[in-house]
Amino acid sequence: MKKIKVAIIGSGPAGYTAGIYAARAKLKPTIFAGEEIGGQLMFTTEVENFPGFPKAIRGPVLMDRMREQAEHFGAELEPHFITAVDFSHQPFRLWTQLPSSVSAPELIRLKQTDYSVLAKQIKQQPADYLVDSVIIATGAVPIRLHVPGEDKFMGRGVSVCAVCDAAFFKDKNVYVIGGGDSAMEDTLALTKFARQVNVVHRRANFRASKIMCERVLHHPKVKIFWNSQLTEIMGETVVNKIRIVTKDEKTDQLKERVLDADGVFLAIGHRPVSGIFTNEIQIDDHGYILTRKSLSAAGLQLGLTAVDKGVIAYPSMTTSAGVFAAGDVVDVRYKQAITAAAQGCEAALDVERWLENNQS
Ligand code: NAP
Repeated sequence: MKKIKVAIIGSGPAGYTAGIYAARAKLKPTIFAGEEIGGQLMFTTEVENFPGFPKAIRGPVLMDRMREQAEHFGAELEPHFITAVDFSHQPFRLWTQLPSSVSAPELIRLKQTDYSVLAKQIKQQPADYLVDSVIIATGAVPIRLHVPGEDKFMGRGVSVCAVCDAAFFKDKNVYVIGGGDSAMEDTLALTKFARQVNVVHRRANFRASKIMCERVLHHPKVKIFWNSQLTEIMGETVVNKIRIVTKDEKTDQLKERVLDADGVFLAIGHRPVSGIFTNEIQIDDHGYILTRKSLSAAGLQLGLTAVDKGVIAYPSMTTSAGVFAAGDVVDVRYKQAITAAAQGCEAALDVERWLENNQS
């Protein structure tokens, strides 16, 4: 069983930044990178809003540089996926084994009850790591719509990653579902290949940032279906049609249409990856991990219990002492690469101070 001072679970901007800071503090952190090394930015194109890159930088390049910087200062990168944790007493225990009945991507999406059963099974084996402190930076995964045909045609016309799959849709007629920044980004990525890109959005205005909305709204290849919901994806071996329902804004009447479609890209948001921490720390109803500075009533209450000399001690600490969290897995509001990186920095500084005060 390997002993570690600081375990960082996750390798997005939060995990890598925590790694850089903890490594520079000579804490020899281990970053458990999981299967999707680099997190969500590996599936994005140009990042235009990360300070320091006036002409934008490609997401995967930015993540590679963060990884290189963390490793340069001594962070160790483990490609393992953490499958179970025990935070009940110190040192904490981490497992990396996975029963043959489930794959790592499936584990991420398990319901909490199903995960609890699996966790018991995993924990029958000896733990793989003993750790003094943990920074959880597991990020988030795309939300699925769960309409008929979605599972059947996943990878056969249905995708949750336009950046990965856009090139397969050259001269095709595709649909993007959603009205946030992800949907706008996916739409623009697809316009480089597809003949026509249709955006299906359930309301009459987008929630995405203005600049992204404008690019989409003014693009000659883009058509918008406002007040519309995708209800079915159809086809034989691959997608060839979709069913959408549109609500008339004035009369509230619903109109159903079956439209020709070669591809469907789901971009309806992300869900925090927190299942493996079920029963170990407090997690809210939407899956966000609670810390002493969470932007919620529960976070405020937790913060108040930790006030020391007028300020909150270790703000990034979860409900378990010695376990900290950062990035999209805690962030109900901002969810930007730069905010995730900042939270990773905060968590590493909190860990450093906490270890100083709590270990001989
Ligand atoms: P989001 O902002 O939560 O948007 C999700 C979109 O999907 C919303 O328009 C929502 O509709 C729609 N939606 C949700 N559930 C739905 C359902 N069941 N059926 C139909 N539509 C549904 O998620 P996101 O776009 O992934 O963005 C997440 C965060 O990452 C945001 O803070 C965003 O700014 C950031 N981000 C930034 C960039 C960038 O800066 N380049 C790129 C991507 C993401 P409603 O609007 O009606 O709720």
